[in-house]
Amino acid sequence: MMAIGAHAPSISIRERYRDVVSDGWPGVIAPQPDELLSSWLHRLAYANGVAPRAFARVLGLNPGMWSPALDLRLPADIARLLHTHTDISSDHLSAMKLSQGCPKQLLLPLRNSGRRNDSTWLQFCSCCLADDDQSYFRRRWRLATRISCTKHGCRLRDRCPSCHSRIAAFDQQELVPQHYCSRCGFDLRRAPTTRISPATRTFDRCIDDICGLEAITDAPSGPALIRRLLSLPSMSGYYAKRSLTSLSTAARVYCVERLNLPNEWPVESANDDDEEREARRLRRLIPPTGDHRAWIELLANALGRRRGRPASSKGDEPTLKLPDLLGAYVGMSSGAGRTAQKLVGT
Ligand SMILES: [Zn+2]
Ligand SMILES: [Zn+2]
Repeated sequence: MMAIGAHAPSISIRERYRDVVSDGWPGVIAPQPDELLSSWLHRLAYANGVAPRAFARVLGLNPGMWSPALDLRLPADIARLLHTHTDISSDHLSAMKLSQGCPKQLLLPLRNSGRRNDSTWLQFCSCCLADDDQSYFRRRWRLATRISCTKHGCRLRDRCPSCHSRIAAFDQQELVPQHYCSRCGFDLRRAPTTRISPATRTFDRCIDDICGLEAITDAPSGPALIRRLLSLPSMSGYYAKRSLTSLSTAARVYCVERLNLPNEWPVESANDDDEEREARRLRRLIPPTGDHRAWIELLANALGRRRGRPASSKGDEPTLKLPDLLGAYVGMSSGAGRTAQKLVGT
């Protein structure tokens, strides 16, 4: 372009804008602890002024459940593209996926039937979303074994409380943060919290602590424990033919609550000789908290016991009833600096 006058700014044709700017996108955001890759991608899209549904095309993908699919498998060319434009290392991108050391069988499936008691692909805690500087979804909320929030003690949700549809931030066509329901616009941070019984919360926490994502895939008893966790509905006597992953969060909570776990744990409450003897026997069977393999085996055995049957073990055979195991877990967790009250709830 020609200069118009002596004092006018001189404007000349330069290289195309795309050629002079760096490869980095203007909006770059840091992944948060335990953040799902899809959650980070939705935030990245928003930070760059693109609605998530349209962002699929930026990555060369078709709409649909494009980002949940990337949680499971991130093709190398997309990982390279993201690294180039955001400078987030490929290791960091991989760490947000669900495919490394994660028990895939326990993940909530991506299919969507729309039926009330059926699972959706993702759960959330409205208090966590409200506490975040930028609301994000956690990797653990993809697991069927998770039903409560460790931090806030409330039940997780898997649907918008206003329109009852699943979380579908991947399908959001408006330029809004991902905590707004893509179907009705409800602010998910405002979803009312739902109470959960202290025993159910302890069970949930115990499973989560003992079956750390890597530990369960490595342990010899891991496959048995996964099978038994998946058949929790039949163990509880409800939804007997259904797998844990096929059920909504509310239905899974219902199943765990039907396990009739006591609110008071038996291990530490020895009042007479018999109980003291039993407490000593149980204490001998409890491995250190760091021994994940042993805990996984005990948990698999405890869940494998047929409901309502007397103990099949004799003497010191290392099988424990589920309430005994949870009681030991609570006792050891409180010894590790937390209080049993806090774990079990009041
Ligand atoms: Zn929470
Ligand atoms: Zn909604």
